[in-house]
Amino acid sequence: MTSAKSTFNFCSGPAMLPEPVMQQAQAELLNYQAKGISIMEMSHRSDTFQAILHSAKVRLRQLMNVPSNYYILFMQGGASLQFSCVPMNLLKGGKALYLDSGYWAKKAIAECKKIGDLDVQSVVTDSVVRQLHIPADLCRGNPYSYVHYTANETIDGLEYDSIPEVGDIPLVADMSSCILSRPVDVSRFGLIYAGAQKNIGPAGLTVVIIREDILARVMPDTIPRLLHYGTVVDENSMANTPPTFAIYLADLVFEWLQHQGGVDAMAIHNQHKAEMLYSVIDDSRLYSNTVATSHRSCMNVPFFLDDQLESAFVREAEQVGLLNLAGHRSVGGCRASIYNAMPVEGVEKLTEFMKHFENNYV
Ligand code: PMP
Repeated sequence: MTSAKSTFNFCSGPAMLPEPVMQQAQAELLNYQAKGISIMEMSHRSDTFQAILHSAKVRLRQLMNVPSNYYILFMQGGASLQFSCVPMNLLKGGKALYLDSGYWAKKAIAECKKIGDLDVQSVVTDSVVRQLHIPADLCRGNPYSYVHYTANETIDGLEYDSIPEVGDIPLVADMSSCILSRPVDVSRFGLIYAGAQKNIGPAGLTVVIIREDILARVMPDTIPRLLHYGTVVDENSMANTPPTFAIYLADLVFEWLQHQGGVDAMAIHNQHKAEMLYSVIDDSRLYSNTVATSHRSCMNVPFFLDDQLESAFVREAEQVGLLNLAGHRSVGGCRASIYNAMPVEGVEKLTEFMKHFENNYV
């Protein structure tokens, strides 16, 4: 994957999209397939848009090897609305277990608390090096309605290296910041959700992958129509006007991913970029990252440097075309988000800049 770009966007989301996708969208913007209008202006009921919707679902199913007993839903409201949809649909008066791994897990926990009963299991060992530790007997004989975890903590830069073992209990994963970054055995999950604005497309679209039997258990009458997974399935993700342009772009991103060699190729590409970045951090006297190697995120690489130098780092990086390297406001520091669309050149340019900056200031 090569790029002629000189500006690289390390934003955690909305994140950079593949350049060929943006070029194709630009070329087709005003006149989609000689229809004389933009895809943005077209009815979602038109055959043209229906073909795009179908194609996006088929491509995502192929890319993630989604078994036939799972539905793929396109919803709205971002991953944050799924924090509510999941307990509304799946709690059924029972109790859930939430694994608390950091910022986004806590957000999901807070929303579930408003809807029903849950246990929370903290899974971050907070010694000198942080890592994820899942207790062996996680469910302790509790017939939880589901277990929820956050596969990649976007802010903390913590990523699970394996899928939590939960027996027959449906496992629900927030994969917002790692979906499609590497192969995942979908059959291990009851439900997977992800906001699109990192590895899928523009903000405004949320992907939900749900196993058929989980769906069958939900209660339609107590849940708002648009938040009810059964309705979304029955209406083919068109229970109201869907985000048509976002779905079109997602389809282009899925096509691009297929041309790149799918998630297997992405895993190699992403591992390579992450190693480049972590090795500069570990070899330096200026930058630090306290996450254990086994749980370091391949998608979001947070690093800390002297408080006094942080703003100079972000400012000088921006001057050379390395954008959005400030850490999340809740933790400070710096963070480079290096999703699928970030080319190796972007990370090369960043690592060169980091070394140069360190030489100048240390
Ligand atoms: N979960 C994770 C892991 C995230 O990174 C984010 C957004 N950065 C969210 C949930 C919230 O997503 P949204 O803004 O789409 O609601």
